Amino acid sequence: MSRFRSSRFARLNAYVPGEQPRERRYIKLNTNESPYPPSPAVLEAAARAAGTLRLYCDPTALRLREAAARVYGVEPEAVLPVNGSDEILNFAFMAFCDERVGVAYPETSYGFYPVLADFHGVKKAEIPLKSDFSVDFHDYLGLRSTVVIANPNAPTGMALAISQIEEIVRANRDRAVVIDEAYVDFGAESAIPLTKKYDNLLVTRTFSKSHSLAGARLGFGIGDPALIADLTAVKDSTNPYNVNAMTQAAGVAAFMDNGYYMDNCRRVAETRDRTAAQLRALGFDLTDSLANFLFIHHPSVGGAALYEQLRERGILVRHFSKPGIEDYNRVTVGSPEEMAALVEAVKEILEAGR
Ligand code: PMP
Repeated sequence: MSRFRSSRFARLNAYVPGEQPRERRYIKLNTNESPYPPSPAVLEAAARAAGTLRLYCDPTALRLREAAARVYGVEPEAVLPVNGSDEILNFAFMAFCDERVGVAYPETSYGFYPVLADFHGVKKAEIPLKSDFSVDFHDYLGLRSTVVIANPNAPTGMALAISQIEEIVRANRDRAVVIDEAYVDFGAESAIPLTKKYDNLLVTRTFSKSHSLAGARLGFGIGDPALIADLTAVKDSTNPYNVNAMTQAAGVAAFMDNGYYMDNCRRVAETRDRTAAQLRALGFDLTDSLANFLFIHHPSVGGAALYEQLRERGILVRHFSKPGIEDYNRVTVGSPEEMAALVEAVKEILEAGR
């Protein structure tokens, strides 16, 4: 640390992203990217937009908001495009939390929530999961905090029913409720329709997983226009040109090709369910994931050991050393070929351990 660092940020517990290895080619199942490429129209749109890079991009991202509004069934004023959904989470902490209003989220969930809470000096209530790793929606009724829930949750992939989300939103009418739908396109039900009924609901989305655009950094906040205006004010006070021209163009083209991406999500879900059955047959415990990853544990191999042995075999998965989940690994659902390689590697590891 230099001697110039602000005392406000003297102690930061920064988020540690999953590895993006460059030294060796791995079967990369560690950061929940799509195994499928962007559609040709998206590549063309991004390339065309590259020709305009001399100019600033549209700070209101109007065409992108219109395209999103058509697909999500809301008004363009109900959408804020952002630089990856991490950015909308950051904006939401700034807009809806302060020294009076803290934040509540599941104790085991996306690791960025505590980072943001600490960064913004917001009091956090970390609510334990049930013993089966599910979120108990009763724990979130009538809280005095902003609520943030990933649905499906990470790294478990387990989802709440939409009726349970609605109960949470209804029971916290004086607080913002943020439903992080990073993984919703792989099989859970979206809360976006509820944003038209409840002015305290913000739904966040990302194109990093379902829409093959992790490197472009594109996400969305969807909610009541007044909520979106608050978030837009935060955006315009920190980074008005937050979504670059190539990404805006790629996003519009991706919405136009939404069917291609939804087909890919269905394929990923099929691969997920087939792989889950194979792993269960090998003795693994798995949560019922509706996301594009599996959360797996085997009684005869430790979580860190499985991670290491897969890595030695050229397969990268994600291990969290957090107490309570240290026996598990989160495995992104890749292509059918990648998952076949994973299952083979796991068989070898189990054989070798006998
Ligand atoms: N929410 C959850 C639950 C996630 O797992 C991730 C991916 N790390 C994100 C949000 C952020 O994704 P991105 O910033 O790429 O949109």
